Amino acid sequence: MTLVTSLKQLLTGQSSRAGGATAKAWPGLVETYRSWLPVDDNTPVVSLLEGNTPLLRSPTLEKRIGRGVRVFLKVDGLNPTGSFKDRGMTMAISKAKQSGATAVICASTGNTSAAAAAYARRGGLRTFAVIPDGYVAKGKLAQALLYGAEVLAIQGNFDQALALTQDLAQRYPVTLVNSINPYRLQGQKTAAFEVADALGDAPDWLCIPMGNAGNISAYWMGFQEYRSAGLIKTLPVMWGFQASGSAPLVLGHAVANPTTVATAIRIGNPANREKALAVRKESRGRFASVEDGEILAAYRMLAGEEGVFCEPASAASVAGMLKHASKIPAEAQVVCILTGNGLKDPTTALDCDHANFHRNLAPEVDAVAQVMGL
Ligand SMILES: *Cc1c(COP(=O)(O)O)cnc(C)c1O
Repeated sequence: MTLVTSLKQLLTGQSSRAGGATAKAWPGLVETYRSWLPVDDNTPVVSLLEGNTPLLRSPTLEKRIGRGVRVFLKVDGLNPTGSFKDRGMTMAISKAKQSGATAVICASTGNTSAAAAAYARRGGLRTFAVIPDGYVAKGKLAQALLYGAEVLAIQGNFDQALALTQDLAQRYPVTLVNSINPYRLQGQKTAAFEVADALGDAPDWLCIPMGNAGNISAYWMGFQEYRSAGLIKTLPVMWGFQASGSAPLVLGHAVANPTTVATAIRIGNPANREKALAVRKESRGRFASVEDGEILAAYRMLAGEEGVFCEPASAASVAGMLKHASKIPAEAQVVCILTGNGLKDPTTALDCDHANFHRNLAPEVDAVAQVMGL
């Protein structure tokens, strides 16, 4: 430990004793991976101590696949605002602030606006969020509003929102913080570092949902940087999954009216298309689509059998892995990225069929015991 960090810990009390050992508090991903990121001594780091999310083994999925395959879930919905977008936003907002910006803008299917608002407001910047009216999950909209974003709901889809936002950012003094902003991917690549740090090498397969395809590009960048530095020996095969009603990268052309229950990936014209195609090629990966029914089945299985509540878009990674399970080599290590928290979208959760929801019961022991099957 350097003198500076121990002084910092002394001043901020960021040090605790657990089980007799000195446990060091996680200082956020910019401080942890500082030498890998484009920050300097003058960067005003805006952080909510994002990152350091669990890499959780999934016995249910391992049992289902068999052949000694090991499956891990990167539970990135446990970030401060409930999605991986926080990783990109700590960087994008810190750099916007460093450059003297006073306002940021994003187009969003929900999570970007929540993360942008939380970090921008914490950093003292205004936030404008352009969203497709009616297609943002309730929890995300609630967050953006409460975090103090000025929410501009348009009668159009995400792709139209993004085009409009890019125009606004070009003509007015507002900084764009969508994943076209290169600092976003810089922050997001730290998730690959965390996976590699936890496993000691890259996984064999990495399964991830794709919307604008920034995150798959960020993971690939992270793994490549670690390999160039000699910290890992291998690179993963990257599997990107889209919802079948919203699968421009699988189809090879833009989709004018994307549809899917997984609103976070309801994107017909991905901004990072070229980057994603390069990832597929360089990693000898695959892009494939999954039906909404398959997404929802994986979503329910993760919560109901594994105790992990992710949002529908995130479950696309697991649905895709299961669909292509026969192609996973025996004994391989697979990581599925769970990008967002299930609490973001209570509507979809409640809209599922629930045989275990017993209503209109009389407040009497006998009546309730009967329903319990006792
Ligand atoms: C943003 C988002 C995605 C898609 O990420 P891209 O970088 O746009 O491909 C997937 N899942 C969730 C929960 C998201 O918020």
